Amino acid sequence: MKSCTDPVIGDILSSWRYDISGISPEMRTDYEGHFVECAHCRSRQRLHRTVDVALIAISTLSILAFLLAIAVIHHVEPLRNWAIIMHLDHRDVALTLQMAAMAGLLVSMLCWVLIAIATPAPVYLTGMAQARFLHDRLSDDQPRTRNIA
Ligand SMILES: [Zn+2]
Repeated sequence: MKSCTDPVIGDILSSWRYDISGISPEMRTDYEGHFVECAHCRSRQRLHRTVDVALIAISTLSILAFLLAIAVIHHVEPLRNWAIIMHLDHRDVALTLQMAAMAGLLVSMLCWVLIAIATPAPVYLTGMAQARFLHDRLSDDQPRTRNIA
């Protein structure tokens, strides 16, 4: 992989995990220019966004898996009645599968929210959706002869 064409800008971008969606548009121009000319930072940016999207995808799948588990447990009698009885402070506390699945669901949702806050994945995905929408509209509106000339 080629090294960065401007290590100063490269270091700044690296500390932001190559996410410039949070900075003002006039400041962004310089960094966008750097992404255009620097293959190193461009590929790093792509890698980081891929990781972000993978994380949000995994936590989304985890939420769906726990929802499914809760639904299955709710409908299957033996699973619903299955429980671990714990003896805490001379009291019996029953931990049911339903409670375990609920706890798992809560943790997954918490992870999802943390990932959505900590990474630009939502901005990135929204941007991709908008770009696709605009692309579709442009290709509908523009006659095909536009680029000939
Ligand atoms: Zn660079």
